[in-house]
Amino acid sequence: MTFMDCKVCRESMYSYLRGYLDREEQRQCNDHLHGCPECRREVEQELRLNDLLDDWDVAGVGRSFAERLLRRPEKKRQRTRGHWLRRLLPIP
Ligand SMILES: [Zn+2]
Repeated sequence: MTFMDCKVCRESMYSYLRGYLDREEQRQCNDHLHGCPECRREVEQELRLNDLLDDWDVAGVGRSFAERLLRRPEKKRQRTRGHWLRRLLPIP
C-alpha cells in the first residue's frame, strides 16, 4: 500500500477532482483528506477555481467556440453544395 502524504495528495489533486485516479488512489486520497484539514482546504480552493472556470465556459468563450468548431464543417459543405448547384442550374 502506498502511503499518501500531503505532497502526493496535492500532486494527485487535479486527477482526483476529475476522477482520473484509480479506485485505490481515490480511496487513499479520500482518507488523507479526511484527516488533513490543510489538504482539504487546497481541494476546496481547487473546486472553487473549477466552478469559476465552468461559469466562464458557460458564459461564452469555451462553449460557443466548441459549437462553432462543430458547426463549421456542415456550413462549409452546404456552401460548397450551393455553389455546385448554382453552376449546374443557372438561375437568372
Ligand atoms: Zn495533507
